[in-house]
Amino acid sequence: MNFFKSLFGGSSPAPQTNFYTLNVKCNRCGEVIEGRVNLANDLSLEEDNNYFVRKVLMGSGHCFQQIEIELKFDASKKVIEKQASGGTFVE
Ligand SMILES: [Zn+2]
Repeated sequence: MNFFKSLFGGSSPAPQTNFYTLNVKCNRCGEVIEGRVNLANDLSLEEDNNYFVRKVLMGSGHCFQQIEIELKFDASKKVIEKQASGGTFVE
């Protein structure tokens, strides 16, 4: 049973998955759509050591407006810039 113990009984905590969540309101129908950015997987590193992510969100209603969002994070993964086309950010 030592084999299984060493596989599953490690004392290190599961890796933390951090999500940045945001809400955008569709410019066409007004639906508020929630988007999630996986800070561990979705970001790409830029030359200036900032991170960048682009996502396309779509509402669940009958409106097929696509909302493209672009976010920029600094080296400590704090948002420093955000843009949305087709929608506007709501806090
Ligand atoms: Zn819409």
